[in-house]
Amino acid sequence: MKQNSENFSPLTRSEFDMLTGSLSRLLSTTSRPVIIPSEAILGIEAIAAGVSAPGRTILNIVTGPYGAIFGKWLARGGAKVVTISTSFDEVVTADEVAAAVDRYKPCALAFVQAEAVTGGSNPASSILQIARQSNIITIMDSVSAIGAEPVLMDKWDIDFVAIGAQKALSGPNGISAVGVSERGWAFLAATEKAPRDSILSLIDLNPDHRAVREQVPANIPILEARALIKTLERVEQEGLPAVNRRHELASSSAIAGIEALGLEPWQRNNKWYSPLVTTVRIPQGSNLNIERPVGIVAPGDGELRDKLLRINHFGANANQESIEEATITLAKLAHRDPHDALLAERSIWENEDGE
Ligand SMILES: *Cc1c(COP(=O)(O)O)cnc(C)c1O
Repeated sequence: MKQNSENFSPLTRSEFDMLTGSLSRLLSTTSRPVIIPSEAILGIEAIAAGVSAPGRTILNIVTGPYGAIFGKWLARGGAKVVTISTSFDEVVTADEVAAAVDRYKPCALAFVQAEAVTGGSNPASSILQIARQSNIITIMDSVSAIGAEPVLMDKWDIDFVAIGAQKALSGPNGISAVGVSERGWAFLAATEKAPRDSILSLIDLNPDHRAVREQVPANIPILEARALIKTLERVEQEGLPAVNRRHELASSSAIAGIEALGLEPWQRNNKWYSPLVTTVRIPQGSNLNIERPVGIVAPGDGELRDKLLRINHFGANANQESIEEATITLAKLAHRDPHDALLAERSIWENEDGE
């Protein structure tokens, strides 16, 4: 028996390798992702700090609040930041991205894959294809997308991708990861101003860095690392495609439910509903507003508060019961009988089971 039953012992080499191995499989890449010793936003800030430099033009696509913050960090690094913003009830289109690439000739572009706050998902594979054709470095915030939809790092040729476990994977939030391609590493190495000897330094955290090869980095939080190993084992047991599918069904059934209640999705284009969160438009003068969350139904964040409700059907809540509860909550708020909405929503799950 170990004395230390809570297991605060340092992370072993084999645990470290197990973790980087499962992160590689999670991102469908043969490269080894960087383990970020903190919540996902640190990895995102580290990417911005690593790629931004005076003389560079970077295209930042803003379809929600995280993209807006990323733009500020890029500007801090001295790059010229050109922005495409949408009203947050729409995601960007591939045509808008192609036009901006032609016009500004950026060396890199950045976007959020799935927007947890607005309920939209950007057309990731098309954006990445446009970038590849113009030889542009790509940066994708997939913190909320991972687990809810495919994130194919090698196939889509992504240079920087940030992920976290606490959204669709229902894992710990105190550790996260950034996948970096070979081109991405070369781009960082060519950035004189990229942080070194800093908590924002991806270069220092590179698992293939000599110091990291010699010794497991002491800054990786051990409890979170062990929790993440367990989370990723659970994900592999269920199967990543099955986890993705569960989120898709949660989204389709939530949409079927709200439409049967006579409510309207907040996102305008049904092709780009996020599998993570479904957002419901609050019509003017309606009594759909809520002060605080009721189960997985939550008020909008910040300025979206009076405009939408969010159904947070991700992670452990990407299942039929959670959607049923949310549908009943919405029916009460809208003073509608939930009967038809529940039938509509159930038929989605039952069709799947009957397959
Ligand atoms: C939640 C989220 C983050 C931040 O993740 P933290 O773990 O809270 O730092 C970043 N980007 C997106 C798109 C998110 O949904």
